[in-house]
Amino acid sequence: MSERTIPYKLYLEENEIPKQWYNVRADMKIKPAPLLNPGTLQPLKAEELAPIFCDELIKQELDDDTAYVDIPEEIREYYKTFRPSPVMRAYNLEKALGTPAKIYYKFEGNNTSGSHKLNSALAQAYYAKKQGLKGVTTETGAGQWGTALSMASAYFGLDCKVFMVKVSYEQKPFRREVMRTYGASVTPSPSMETEVGRKILEAHPGTTGSLGCAISEAVEVATKNDGYRYVLGSVLNQVLLHQSIIGLEAKAALDKYNITPDIIIGCAGGGSNLGGLIAPFMGEKLRGEKDYRIIAVEPASCPSFTRGKFAYDFCDTGMICPLAKMYTLGSGFIPSPNHAGGLRFHGMSTILSQLYHDGYMEATSVEQTAVFEAAEKFARTEGILPAPESSHAIRAAMDEALKCKETGEEKTILFGLTGTGYFDMVAYEKFHNGEMNDYIPTDEDLAVGFAGIPRFEGNEF
Ligand SMILES: *Cc1c(COP(=O)(O)O)cnc(C)c1O
Repeated sequence: MSERTIPYKLYLEENEIPKQWYNVRADMKIKPAPLLNPGTLQPLKAEELAPIFCDELIKQELDDDTAYVDIPEEIREYYKTFRPSPVMRAYNLEKALGTPAKIYYKFEGNNTSGSHKLNSALAQAYYAKKQGLKGVTTETGAGQWGTALSMASAYFGLDCKVFMVKVSYEQKPFRREVMRTYGASVTPSPSMETEVGRKILEAHPGTTGSLGCAISEAVEVATKNDGYRYVLGSVLNQVLLHQSIIGLEAKAALDKYNITPDIIIGCAGGGSNLGGLIAPFMGEKLRGEKDYRIIAVEPASCPSFTRGKFAYDFCDTGMICPLAKMYTLGSGFIPSPNHAGGLRFHGMSTILSQLYHDGYMEATSVEQTAVFEAAEKFARTEGILPAPESSHAIRAAMDEALKCKETGEEKTILFGLTGTGYFDMVAYEKFHNGEMNDYIPTDEDLAVGFAGIPRFEGNEF
């Protein structure tokens, strides 16, 4: 084999872990629309958010102008145990596809939570502890966020209460035990422990739950218990800020080898890994310095960007959270129980929604059997067992690479490999047994969710 100038792993050194996060809002000419108080329909003020969120995180949430935010030394210290994460060259996948494209991926699965979520969990737990709080509450879907927050809470000495979407709780009992190992309490949602949970169960007995519903429960518990705040693993501006470490590291590693991606691809649930991966590249694009094709990939069964409405909507089913202007399927939207691949949130980060609306990025949706085919191909060539969520990005990267095979173009593709799939074996099993099917919601199905989007002057969609 000929000598390669680019290695498999484009490592950075420990001292090259970024010292600051990058806030892409600072470079956006049109800022994401502010969160609204659902009662008054006025932009939320910091003091209104204070009963729900930690003070420093509220500051980060509302700050559209500061481009760089120092990463506290205590957080960097833990980052050093699992970062920098490698950028990998997918030589073996390229060969199997027979493509002239060069494929790179940033791998975030090298920690026990198995995903990028630990990047923000550490930051959020740190600020909660610094404020002198007793604990945090949250929701989790597939379980990666709950695990990440459990780890971060154990590290900083906080109590951690997790509401886990019931369908995942039942499918992934071992996820629950991982969280309990780190000291968290885990409750299947909807539960009888909260007012909103009891209400939802009464209206929809036997429901398998949704992220929106688990959020409502976690928020209720945080606001009703002294010394507790609610933390969220995606969607919010602060989470995208923390996740910018993914993109900053990726860019630093690529720059070392004089590599410039043509296409940057990430899966999109609430938008945090994608927002983080693209942050510094998007900054260059917004400032007119460089151009990149940026593609968000979502499941065809939960198509917020590609079929959703750009409107103010609730982030939770219980309609107690602030209104966010985003691409949404409606807070009452619950993906088909058939859907196995995560990324099931009905809405999307307001930052990414605005960027998509303004034409700075594209979006595509993929069906789950095609996603698992890509996952399998990736596992067999690159060796890593990918999370189903991440495999949406693999699918799109493979499709772009196959287009290059047809045209002969040697494009450079970078995608986010957000995590590993060890706890997703029920989904893989369904796929292997030929029991997985592609359910795509009809326009009529989606209309039910859209009907729940609040209507008020200025919120036409
Ligand atoms: C949570 C998660 C996602 C999706 O969340 P985003 O906020 O859209 O990044 C993707 N991949 C993995 C492995 C996850 O755990």
